[in-house]
Amino acid sequence: MYPYKFKKMKQFDLKKLNMQFRYATCEDVLQWVISNLYPDVAMTTSFQSSGMVLISFLRKIQPDFPIYFIDTGYHFPETLEFRDRLIQEWNLNVFTISAEEDKYILKQNQGDFIKEDLDTCCQLNKVEPLNRLKKKLRVSAWLSALRRDQNPSRADLNMFMMDKAGYIRINPLIHWDNKKLWQYIYSQNLPFHPLYDQGYASIGCFPPSCTSRSVSGGSERSGRWANTEKTECGLHLDLVEEEENAWVRQLESKEKKK
Ligand code: SF4
Repeated sequence: MYPYKFKKMKQFDLKKLNMQFRYATCEDVLQWVISNLYPDVAMTTSFQSSGMVLISFLRKIQPDFPIYFIDTGYHFPETLEFRDRLIQEWNLNVFTISAEEDKYILKQNQGDFIKEDLDTCCQLNKVEPLNRLKKKLRVSAWLSALRRDQNPSRADLNMFMMDKAGYIRINPLIHWDNKKLWQYIYSQNLPFHPLYDQGYASIGCFPPSCTSRSVSGGSERSGRWANTEKTECGLHLDLVEEEENAWVRQLESKEKKK
């Protein structure tokens, strides 16, 4: 699979990058991204705590970095207000992608779709709008604020990965845990989504089947699609599992024990 060829014919060996940056700070990774990939890279966010930390670093390095927000039509009003406040106060370069085309199909054919088939709802209202955007933009890489500690399904993430469509995915916050994240938010006086103060630990769409207050003692994402098997919306389920990634993680684990 390696080295992956960018559309612009730059070549990067992801295994080497994962080795090189395995203990790098978020700033170092972002500096590399901006020096080597910009403007061939973008990010999506719903302005949750991890996204805010990533944006806070990014805006110091590249203030006009393109940030895409997927408006499923089911966001909490507080999320939309928070997005608008950040655009104003931080002068962010935010583009909102609407899922209206797909919602029309839902209304016509599916009735009470959300409760009946959450996976398809996410597919139509999140994944497909993003896939359309990716084709339109023709960028080669995407930044994300995923962290290993958020969920067992995210424990195997690496800093540099590839998705099944061939885009590079860069996760500069994989080593951050929830405690470090909130210490940073408070120490830097960063704004944060108002629903965190109301007992939510992870905030997605408003239907209670999709976002509820966290279960006491549960993981950060325990309030997402609670009481179902679902743990992810689908935006991050297309990352390619590769031997090289597993090998770098094992090395990190060995080095930590020394
Ligand atoms: S989180 Fe819920 S409402 Fe939002 S797209 Fe997914 S299933 Fe639909």
